[in-house]
Amino acid sequence: MSKFLSKKYENLEPYTPGEQPKDMAYIKLNTNESPFSPTKKAMSAVKKQALLSKLYPDPEQTVLTKKVADYLGVKKEQVLMTNGSDEILNFAFMAYCDSSNPAVFADITYGFYSVFAFINGVPTKVIPLKDDFSIDKTDYYNARGTIFIANPNAPTGLTLTLADIEDILKNNLNNIVVIDEAYVDFGATSAIKLIDKYDNLLITRTFSKSRSMAGARLGFGVANEKIIKDLNAIKYSTNPYNVNRMSAILGAYSIDDERYYEKCIQKVIFARNYAKEELDKLGFELTDSKANFLFAKHPKISGETLYEKLKEKGVLVRHFNKERTKDYVRITVGTQKEMTVLIQKIKEIIQN
Ligand code: PMP
Repeated sequence: MSKFLSKKYENLEPYTPGEQPKDMAYIKLNTNESPFSPTKKAMSAVKKQALLSKLYPDPEQTVLTKKVADYLGVKKEQVLMTNGSDEILNFAFMAYCDSSNPAVFADITYGFYSVFAFINGVPTKVIPLKDDFSIDKTDYYNARGTIFIANPNAPTGLTLTLADIEDILKNNLNNIVVIDEAYVDFGATSAIKLIDKYDNLLITRTFSKSRSMAGARLGFGVANEKIIKDLNAIKYSTNPYNVNRMSAILGAYSIDDERYYEKCIQKVIFARNYAKEELDKLGFELTDSKANFLFAKHPKISGETLYEKLKEKGVLVRHFNKERTKDYVRITVGTQKEMTVLIQKIKEIIQN
């Protein structure tokens, strides 16, 4: 840290992204990326936009916003496109949290929530998950703060039903409830249907996972028009050109090529079920993940040792060294072939 850094960042603990080592070719199952490429149909259009890069992109993202809104069955004024969903989440912390509106979230959830809270100088109210890692919805009733819930949650993959989400919304009519649907396409129910019914609901989504665009950085928020106006004010006060030309066109093509993405999602779900069954047979304890990752622990090997041994064998998974999660590893679901290799390597490790 330099002597010039503002005191307000003295204790900042930045988010730690999953490692991206370059020393060898790993089977990368550590950052919940898609194993499939984005739609190839977009490539010549992406190239055209790259050649137009001397010009700023459309700050309103008019075409893409309309496309996403039509796809979701909402108005274009209810959608804001952002640079990954991390950006819309940060906007929500900026817009709806302050000293009298703490950020409310689970003890085990997406690690960025606490970082966004810190960098925005926002107090937090952390609510422990139950022993089985599920959420007790009543813990969130009248929360007196801005609620952030990932559905499915990370790294557990557990979901809330639409009825549970509606109950949380109903019991927080004076607070914003942010439902982070980064992994929703792999098996949870979206809360989009509730958008017109609850003016306190903000849904965040991403193109990083089911649409294979983690490297393009594209996400969005869906809410009622007033909320989107607030968030637009934040956007125009930080980075009006937050979505670049190439990512915007790739996103638009990905909406057009829905059948391709549906197939990719089905392949991930199939590979997830296969891996879950095999790990179960090997004595692992797993949560019922509806995301593109599994969360697993084995009675005979610690999460850290399993992570290290898999890395030695060329397979990267994620280990979170926190009290309640340290026995587990989070394994991103890759291709069927990658999952077969994973299971083989795990057998070698635990049977020796
Ligand atoms: N929410 C959750 C729960 C996540 O796991 C992630 C990805 N790490 C994000 C949001 C942000 O993803 P992105 O910025 O790539 O859209």
